[in-house]
Amino acid sequence: MKLFGKSISLPFSKPSISKRDQKFIWHPLTQHKLNPELLAIKSAKGAVLKDESGNTYIDAIASWYTSMYGHCHPYITKKVKAQVDTLDQVVFSGFTHEPAVELSEKLMQILPKNQNKLFFNDNGSTATEIGIKMALQYHHNKGSDRKVMLALEEGFHGDTFGAMSVSSLSVYNGAFEDHFIEVIRLPKPLGHNNDTVIAHLKLILEEHSIAGFIYEPLVQGAAAMKTYDLDGLNKILKLCKSEDVVCIADEVMTGFGKTGKHFASDYLSEKPDVMCLSKALSAGMVGMGITSCTKKVYQAFYADEVAKGLFHGHTYTGNPLACAAAIAGLELLQSQEIQESIKNIMSLNQMFADKMRKHKSIADVRQVGVILALDLDVEMERYGNARDEMFRFFMKKGIFLRPLGKTIYILPPYVITETQLTKIYAAIEDFLDHLGQQQH
Ligand SMILES: *Cc1c(COP(=O)(O)O)cnc(C)c1O
Repeated sequence: MKLFGKSISLPFSKPSISKRDQKFIWHPLTQHKLNPELLAIKSAKGAVLKDESGNTYIDAIASWYTSMYGHCHPYITKKVKAQVDTLDQVVFSGFTHEPAVELSEKLMQILPKNQNKLFFNDNGSTATEIGIKMALQYHHNKGSDRKVMLALEEGFHGDTFGAMSVSSLSVYNGAFEDHFIEVIRLPKPLGHNNDTVIAHLKLILEEHSIAGFIYEPLVQGAAAMKTYDLDGLNKILKLCKSEDVVCIADEVMTGFGKTGKHFASDYLSEKPDVMCLSKALSAGMVGMGITSCTKKVYQAFYADEVAKGLFHGHTYTGNPLACAAAIAGLELLQSQEIQESIKNIMSLNQMFADKMRKHKSIADVRQVGVILALDLDVEMERYGNARDEMFRFFMKKGIFLRPLGKTIYILPPYVITETQLTKIYAAIEDFLDHLGQQQH
């Protein structure tokens, strides 16, 4: 270090990022008293994260399903860099810009045909929060007094108040429950119980004034990648729509290819009135959410009275850099290369899933698209010690995954190589051997 031309040496080296972190930062979903030291990630490329000591980890969950095209993808960084020097940020009320318009055109080409308008926002929770507001105000604007939301049991829709309310009750939400909006929870259709669920739904629709129904189509992510019956969901949607209940598909996790189709709703014959998008939407580069809706929903807000509009706006709505990243992501998603990678991951996962179905330590295996979830045949707390031990076991093997209770799941970026994927499978098998030895 040079000070006034004289070279001086510091008496101590700079503390690690992990140590400096502890002074001022409060992390999400973290009990700092139990977990004081967090790992500092210095760089990332493709499917690999590198920590400050130079250790590498395969990102088996694409950093919470955002970096689906890999970290720092050169096509995405090139597009964002070009945008940085053109237009960085501008108010999206009263103004518009090319990246937002181009993104709207590109997104409309792949969304279900009934989607008609896009409302931009910042993240997954705001995307669902706005979906809920659309449902409530849709009925308010039409002069009907519907204030109750319907949601599937075990669903997760985000951490803001509306999103928390419609999410399934969590032991971590005790301080807030008195302030939730009114929600009725519907059991999931699992095939064998479809008739009971539909009968139950009929009663709910008779007794309550339901404004909207929110659901994660096909896979419930935070519930540990739980799947349920598509035919049953189609029937629920059909009945809800016949009663003018606004159906909201939360595709924050499932969107953009993870289920093998662009959207999980593509597997259903009944299309949603509203769709919530985030996570992979902006390709893991900058946070962004979008809530899309049908013409019917939009028409209920389109009026001579100002108050009938949707008065919700986040400062960074439609940020041009996020739009540029999203456009690049959509282009990659539709490329032959990525579509082939998705198919490859699906078939490799399928083979591993078949093998795991026969394993004595595995209670259940679920596979949808590039998502693979394995339930261990043990009891475990969602964020307990055993789960933390499991996390550390995989990190030591150079694999980043976040087990949810007793469920180990992977949701790899589409650019993962076969060698990397095989390494993940091998580590999982090692873990199961380790578990088997402990139980004997
Ligand atoms: C992650 C997630 C959310 C919340 O998104 P955030 O960006 O974390 O606020 C909502 N719904 C689903 C299905 C999700 O997976």
